[in-house]
Amino acid sequence: MIWYPYQQMKTMKTPYNITDAKGVWLYTPDNRMIDSISSWWSVIHGYQHPVLVEAIKSQADRFSHVMLGGLTHEPVQKLSDKLEDWLPGDLNYCFFSDSGSVGVEVALKMALQYYVNQGDFKRTKVLSLTHAYHGDTFKTMEVGDDEDYHFILEVYGENPHVLHIPTDIKALEEAFLRHHKELNCLIVEPLLQGAGGMRMYEISFLKRARELCDQYHVLLIFDEVATGFGRTGHRFVADEVLPDILVLGKALTGGYIGHAATIANQKVYNAFYDDNPDKALMHGPTFMANPLACSVALKSIELFETEDYLSKIHKIESITRREMQHFHDDRIKEVRILGGCICIEVHDPATLQGYQDYAYQQGVFSRPFLNYLYAMVPYIITEPELLQVLTTMKSWFQR
Ligand SMILES: *Cc1c(COP(=O)(O)O)cnc(C)c1O
Repeated sequence: MIWYPYQQMKTMKTPYNITDAKGVWLYTPDNRMIDSISSWWSVIHGYQHPVLVEAIKSQADRFSHVMLGGLTHEPVQKLSDKLEDWLPGDLNYCFFSDSGSVGVEVALKMALQYYVNQGDFKRTKVLSLTHAYHGDTFKTMEVGDDEDYHFILEVYGENPHVLHIPTDIKALEEAFLRHHKELNCLIVEPLLQGAGGMRMYEISFLKRARELCDQYHVLLIFDEVATGFGRTGHRFVADEVLPDILVLGKALTGGYIGHAATIANQKVYNAFYDDNPDKALMHGPTFMANPLACSVALKSIELFETEDYLSKIHKIESITRREMQHFHDDRIKEVRILGGCICIEVHDPATLQGYQDYAYQQGVFSRPFLNYLYAMVPYIITEPELLQVLTTMKSWFQR
């Protein structure tokens, strides 16, 4: 018996059975539909991309997995070299893991131990944002602010080691002023808070955060598990404002295999680099740096560069803006667009009830949640396919 994610098993509707997938299309036994959310925002090149499939196949012909403890291999070396080259600033030290949640756990562990390794035991607090989502494991739930996890608060009470503030510069300055001696890091989903409701905010907030982190010696962590690889229209938001630790996941492998990377800068790495074994980073997921994942990630990045994905994303954004320009409905609170993400926020979640089935009839796969109807399409989508997605969203309100 399968226990499905984020579902009340008693009342859930039958999931669509996928028998094949190619390009932006998902196939069921009797229909085909455009995957408008790229399998949880990860499948940026679409399905069955020949280059990515070949990368996995040729690596599988050699070996599909070896552990990274005491062993190493060409796929992980090439990928870490590539990331070192490709990522901004001195984000050069790549720690691999098998999922975004674990990648964030590693980042938070790094931030805490960074200070412990320097004899500072007082910096126990993490500053985070309201509506943040950083994953489903325990520490990431605590740092996050997803209402679905507030049962944790009911059981354990407020966590004294996490502070939440809105994306407001005044609140940010005040939090630093009051708490800077106890803060080890500020963690954010930069520019776009995904699972918290596709909330978009200004880069000025991040620029000020960088200044305050420098001023008060607090580490800045960007969780770009969702925003990385172009989703906001920037390659990484880290290209605009440089964090001390960057977490990548989801689209890292083009969505072909689950994998994540936590990438530290020189300063963070140096705090662990020592003759003393107690100062080492004690972490090591069994499947970290899986060779299939590394091989496909490398090819995914090459495609992103050679096929100029940023211009594809800018095109998606401009078509989306054009199509949504004159679209209004009283039930809609706001339409938000950034890069390859569009979100229609409605006043009442009941407005979206039945949308998934409606979209299925129109040949689109969608998964609205709470008050949010959104799309995060694969970047290889054609204009007619994108129009099909957007028309489906609009026509739901015009029936
Ligand atoms: C999806 C997501 C995660 C968790 O990644 P998993 O691979 O699902 O564990 C963490 N942070 C952000 C911002 C995400 O969107």
